[in-house]
Amino acid sequence: MLVLTLSPGRDHSVLRRHPWVFSGAVRGREGDENDGIAEIRSQAGETLGYGFTGSGRTIVAKLWTFGAEPFDGGTIRGRFEAARDLRRDVIPPRTTGYRLLHAEGDHAPGVIADRYGETHVLQVGAGGAARAVGMIAAAYRDVFAPPALVVRTEGEPGEEAAEAAFEEHGLRFVADLASGQKTGFFLDQRENRRRVRGLSGGKSVLNLFSYSGGFSVAALAGGASRAVDVDSSEAALALAARNRGENGFAADPADFVRADVFEDLRVRVAAGERWGVVILDPPAFAKKKGDVDRAARGYKDVARLAMTLVAPGGFLLTCSCSGVVSAELFQQILFAAALDAKRTFSIVEKAGAGPDHPVSIYCPESEYLKAFYLRAAE
Ligand code: SAH
Repeated sequence: MLVLTLSPGRDHSVLRRHPWVFSGAVRGREGDENDGIAEIRSQAGETLGYGFTGSGRTIVAKLWTFGAEPFDGGTIRGRFEAARDLRRDVIPPRTTGYRLLHAEGDHAPGVIADRYGETHVLQVGAGGAARAVGMIAAAYRDVFAPPALVVRTEGEPGEEAAEAAFEEHGLRFVADLASGQKTGFFLDQRENRRRVRGLSGGKSVLNLFSYSGGFSVAALAGGASRAVDVDSSEAALALAARNRGENGFAADPADFVRADVFEDLRVRVAAGERWGVVILDPPAFAKKKGDVDRAARGYKDVARLAMTLVAPGGFLLTCSCSGVVSAELFQQILFAAALDAKRTFSIVEKAGAGPDHPVSIYCPESEYLKAFYLRAAE
């Protein structure tokens, strides 16, 4: 075990049960990292918490317990049981694709798990959690009893099943586990797909940064007249076409556009296109605080172009999954974009990830997804 002693006056964050210990707060290191476990001590030698050692230079430990509460396989099983019980309460019917473990949000930093039907993907962070992967996987099997389990360690390529089929609100999808984004599907958008299904009836839908086309399938299930997916990845579009087929929808090649969204949007704006629903769910433009200004310009640019394409009385769903871009900043960006687009919008709903992506009250940084529903004036 690695014992990290904090500098005088640097214990506030741990005492407030924040799980991350930053290198700047640490003044002493003893012991070794072999088991991946870290103990945090105050200057006075008191135990403040236990967790996994970090992987980077900045975060040196991610804590699972606070005070003298010990940390072992029993702790891990307990957290997994609580996570399993939460999902029993919140997962909607006819849904077998959802997140089972959401790291800090389930008080299990360094561990993520998603279920795709019969297949579970357990993803363990680099650093101490990776060293303890045997203990974590054993606890996982005990608690979740997965029919098939793929274990991945962050940053290491794994051998794994390529695909897994699952249901979401009664719709059928395939997740690409091998080369896919996230662990294979954007499960965090499930409740937003349900909302899009509800507001797409009779409308044409333009789904930008579509990945495997989840929003389009939901829109078509809700009676959309047409849905077009735009993404730069050929593999993502192929999967999007399959996902339509799985649900009995035609997959017209013209509805899958391989393009850079920034360029594609300019072409559509120049052509004067109008869409009943535009979905704008890009990858994170900002990963760290230093990226925020540049990201804000990117979000504003795409939002302005997307707004121009929304028909009067239509909807824009615009999302940001950058944790460092706050909901307040995102709303300001949308305001500036609307001004430039010279269009009038109302915010009709603000949403985030579903309840299988909880946020620890002690770690608000883990809240990342913002979804704004805008209605264009008639
Ligand atoms: N909206 C998707 C998730 C988006 S993930 C869903 O709900 O499933 C981001 C996607 O954007 C990826 O599929 C990636 O291939 C694509 N992408 C990233 N940059 C792009 C660009 N400049 N133009 C088009 N697609 C891009």
